[in-house]
Amino acid sequence: MSVFQHTTFYTTVNQLHQLPPPDGVEIAFAGRSNAGKSSAINSLANRGRLAFVSKTPGRTQNINFFQLGSGRFLVDLPGYGYAKVPAAIRQHWEHLLSTYLQTRKSLHGMVLIMDVRHPLTPLDRQMLDWFASTGKPVHILLTKSDKLSRQQTRDILKNVLLLLCETYPQCSVQLFSSMTGEGVEEATALLGTWFALDSNLIKELNSTQNRDKLKIKSPRLKGNKTGGKLP
Ligand code: GDP
Repeated sequence: MSVFQHTTFYTTVNQLHQLPPPDGVEIAFAGRSNAGKSSAINSLANRGRLAFVSKTPGRTQNINFFQLGSGRFLVDLPGYGYAKVPAAIRQHWEHLLSTYLQTRKSLHGMVLIMDVRHPLTPLDRQMLDWFASTGKPVHILLTKSDKLSRQQTRDILKNVLLLLCETYPQCSVQLFSSMTGEGVEEATALLGTWFALDSNLIKELNSTQNRDKLKIKSPRLKGNKTGGKLP
């Protein structure tokens, strides 16, 4: 079953201090306004208007969290590229986004949405630059593939891959269309792997850490001569 099956709105954040505790596994979705991010999230979650809650008044400049079952979050980042955004709002946005992308421990990867007809704009590259230093994976969805011919989309995919393999080797790229469903299965499978791998890793780390903690504490456990073994 798809990890996106039970996606529900969780919370909306406009300041770094409002972020929920970094306890789960988060995958962030970013992209230029109108690139097709909300439609892509809705296609992946198989839910008609789910991501459009991020477009309701007061939330468009926010980081919106959707929960996919316990401890797994899809994080919808505010769309960028509006020409007429006042400088103060742009600065706030840059600080919120760059800090979240660069320092968030529970963030495990980013999905970057680009209109296949306008890939790798300067702001897309800025997102990649902010994230590159973390070494975490980026998966690019070249959306609206239905708008071009098969040959055109293939050529663009090849060019984007060539450009990225030198500058951003931790990137993968695919074609996507919310209209025809192209690439939905491929993206779902990849993101499922990110969530599954990371959840397993977290479980493993937690159990190792807990074991270690218990081992260290064990001599002080009262009335336990065998020393802190788990029951
Ligand atoms: P966002 O601003 O990035 O969240 O973009 P939206 O998901 O709201 O999409 C912007 C516009 O592009 C809307 O009119 C969508 O219907 C359209 N759109 C989104 N994805 C696709 C797609 O795969 N194919 C086509 N033809 N149109 C799309």
